[in-house]
Amino acid sequence: MCGELRRAQAGQRATLMGWVNRRRDLGSLIFIDLRDRSGWTQVVFDKESNPALHERASDLRSEYVIAVTGRVHQRDGDTINPNIPTGEIELICEEMRLLNDAKTPPFLPSETDLPNEEFRLQYRYIDLRRPEMQHNIEMRHKVALAIRQHLASKGFFEIETPFMTRSTPEGARDYLVPSRVHAGAFYALPQSPQLFKQILMISGFDKYFQIVRCFRDEDLRADRQPEFTQIDLEMSFPTQERVFEVVEGFLKAAWKAAGVEIATPFPRMTYDEAMRAYGSDKPDLRLPPMTDVSSAFPPEALAQLNVDPKLPIVAIRTLKVGELSRKERDDLKPLLPANRGAKLFEDLKRLEKTWPDAVAKIREFTGAQPDDLVVVVAGGTAPTPHPSEGGVKPEVKQHDRAVYTAAGALRIALAQKFAAKHNAFAGERNNASSYQFLWVTDFPMFEWDDDEKRWAAAHHPFTSPHERDMDKLESDPGAVRALAYDVVLNGTELGSGSIRIHRQDIQARIFRALGMSDEEARSRFGFFLDALQYGTPPHGGIALGLDRIAMILAGGDSLRDVIPFPKTAAAKDLMVDAPTPVSDAQLRDLSIAIRKK
Ligand code: ASP
Repeated sequence: MCGELRRAQAGQRATLMGWVNRRRDLGSLIFIDLRDRSGWTQVVFDKESNPALHERASDLRSEYVIAVTGRVHQRDGDTINPNIPTGEIELICEEMRLLNDAKTPPFLPSETDLPNEEFRLQYRYIDLRRPEMQHNIEMRHKVALAIRQHLASKGFFEIETPFMTRSTPEGARDYLVPSRVHAGAFYALPQSPQLFKQILMISGFDKYFQIVRCFRDEDLRADRQPEFTQIDLEMSFPTQERVFEVVEGFLKAAWKAAGVEIATPFPRMTYDEAMRAYGSDKPDLRLPPMTDVSSAFPPEALAQLNVDPKLPIVAIRTLKVGELSRKERDDLKPLLPANRGAKLFEDLKRLEKTWPDAVAKIREFTGAQPDDLVVVVAGGTAPTPHPSEGGVKPEVKQHDRAVYTAAGALRIALAQKFAAKHNAFAGERNNASSYQFLWVTDFPMFEWDDDEKRWAAAHHPFTSPHERDMDKLESDPGAVRALAYDVVLNGTELGSGSIRIHRQDIQARIFRALGMSDEEARSRFGFFLDALQYGTPPHGGIALGLDRIAMILAGGDSLRDVIPFPKTAAAKDLMVDAPTPVSDAQLRDLSIAIRKK
């Protein structure tokens, strides 16, 4: 193949087939860089030795597809190109066949100055010819293969589940497929195979996995796609630790496929610990944690500073920022999310004038060096009362959470603003220490939905609460912790899962706690509630985003870099131009009328 000829083959005859990446015409010599997915080789057409062939080569244009046969020639010292693997040789062409010509492409795969992404997505077949994209797709293939092989070696079966199914409750809108045979009825594309994989456990397939497409009709953000790929798995009789071990095993295999040896097991942290130390349920461990500095302030200081002593007070330390001007300090203020009742003290020197002991303690507690930036976030305004917030609890409650998450967002914003100074995000791609993995465990079972004014499942309603919290299901839902876990990498969530409820009576109780009547639960999940009654083993599992993993390992910045045919942020496929209206006849078949807006 074009990228594989080496010096050792000098003198041998070789045949290559590929695309004309570039043609340079130096009069008596024409050079073609011939490209295929393995790379490219320089092919030489010499007028003196073969004038007819040279003449034909002068007609070649970019992206023509040709086959060439010739002799591998060791390049002279000064023409060696050390930047490419085939740079020490060239192929002296003796025969050439034109396999296909090409229209002038809208842009060239060899261009470094790329046109805008929409244009590239429209001509995705050209875009995919670019070496970066070829590399990304190859990486994705290798990673998926390594994961499959690892899981198969551990006794997992890959089992397919349907795409045309009924709505699954992952919290997003479904994509619907109208049924022609059953007018007015719809299939839903799965948001995940959640219920099928649980049913597979009931069916006795005690280790299931699937690299599977999922569909969610959400408002798209930069890092979302309406269809995306999960590494989905489920096991019977597992402990949480057992699930972690399996996931760590296949992630290790995936990273190894990309040439990086990561260490396992990953550290573990509960949700409450993560909230207190990082103000986030997906902590970025490349940055220092926050420090609880509430004990640094005497009560009169808090009163004078208008700080609520019952809410968290944390210090954020950003490394190596150095001295900031007044204006630079003022610019930090808007980085604190405004709507969570949190306030920022960004000028410790000013605070020090009135409260020198408090500031000395803050410096001591955080272990800050002189060139580190330390700011303090506290709860300022009195929070609105919340039905389940009474008493002092070990759990992070909703009010505390508001202050913690505001501080956590500020922590990340500061780190991004000063990234060039502390370099924490600049880890080498092939260095294991650039990848800070972590398990976050014991998530809250419920989240308060402020719009709907009710508790909603924080993960999904099939997640098992902790046995010890069962008595709080009705009395204090906010305090209930679940056997739910996320695997986090460098501040992004790679995947989430849980130990499931395997008893029908508990499942019914959870639906009730979510404000679902028995009738509603039956109408939505009747088949599943029935199945649970026929000898369901304890089970649990997880799903991880393959697109994100491939993106990280390929060094891409967007999921679109590792999805061959992705959608835009407006959920469009620009190459095939989808979605599109369909004919009246098709609509009639489906008994569908389009309502004019
Ligand atoms: N189905 C869940 C999801 O897609 C993952 C799991 O609980 O296994 O997020």
